[in-house]
Amino acid sequence: MILLNPGPVTLSNRVRNALSGPDLCHREEEFGLLQQSIRDKLLGVYNLSNENWAPVLLTGSGTAAVEAMLISCIPEEGQTLVIENGVYGERMSEMLKSYAINYDRHTNEWGANIDINSLRVMLSKKQYSHAVLVHHETTTGRLNELSEISELCARYGTKLLVDAVSSFGAEAIPFENETIAACAATANKCLHGVPGTSFVLLRRSLFKDTMAPRRSVYLDLFKYLKAQDGEGTPFTQSVQSFYALEEALKEFFDQGGRKSRYEIYKQRMLKISDVLNSLRIKPFLPSNVNSVVLRSFLLPSAKTYEEVHRSLKTQGFIIYAGQNQYRDKLFRISLMGDISNKDLSDLEFALGKTFS
Ligand SMILES: *Cc1c(COP(=O)(O)O)cnc(C)c1O
Repeated sequence: MILLNPGPVTLSNRVRNALSGPDLCHREEEFGLLQQSIRDKLLGVYNLSNENWAPVLLTGSGTAAVEAMLISCIPEEGQTLVIENGVYGERMSEMLKSYAINYDRHTNEWGANIDINSLRVMLSKKQYSHAVLVHHETTTGRLNELSEISELCARYGTKLLVDAVSSFGAEAIPFENETIAACAATANKCLHGVPGTSFVLLRRSLFKDTMAPRRSVYLDLFKYLKAQDGEGTPFTQSVQSFYALEEALKEFFDQGGRKSRYEIYKQRMLKISDVLNSLRIKPFLPSNVNSVVLRSFLLPSAKTYEEVHRSLKTQGFIIYAGQNQYRDKLFRISLMGDISNKDLSDLEFALGKTFS
């Protein structure tokens, strides 16, 4: 079965085999070395230095990393603006609400471009300490304008916390913009690891003494940071998932790194978009605003999502449904993971069978 959903991804044999590494106690030196090796490699994905950036590894899915980032980085007296144009932006508002952290929302239609003019007005009217943004909004495939928005935030002295769960490892991220304070991501999307490990990159200079109140025992990033800088861990980590992530990162660099992964995804998506276009299936968003990671396509009126999903599943491919108002309008295809040219040709055939 080939997974075309936005994570978890189809594993390579290398990564799958790494799962059967030796039993290991998370208090042993060997674990500390493994953890440090992963942290170094994560910085290497975007050529970041250990002096400026601190990766913090967590056991949990991408949502755990996003939640840990929000509740650990926003101080008591903070004023936060959540920029939303899809499910994952809205989920961050839900998180802040459940921890009773003050926030306002900058709402945009799902799939719409983030309206820069009204965002500028909001940022100028109130002194926001933090803005939070999803980089690639997986709801629709839209790649939000992280550079432009971070520059705007910088002008108003607003720090940006980024959900890069479905872009980290493939899309460009402007880490050089100092307003970007932290970024959350996961092992099992563009990095091709297994689910179970997620992480947050923290800009060290911003988190020396401005730590937020301790809102959670388990998701307190600074407790992890202190332990991990000393090659330890406060709680049991998912050791096998760490083995897999270490191997996935080695494979990532063997395959040419971030830009190469971007190019591979781009070529795969061009090919599949062309195939679908020839079957009269149109994309929801134009390619220039879409990520290379995932694309939404409009369902033809003659077919339900269930029919399309079933047809592709019986041919060995798992696609993803639209959410809420897009449940009956869209289907989504992501081309992350260990997908060969043969798999792509088989997919081409399967799509032909499904839609013609
Ligand atoms: C996948 C994803 C998440 C996290 O989802 P999990 O199911 O917790 O891994 C968060 N944000 C975005 C943008 C995502 O695509």
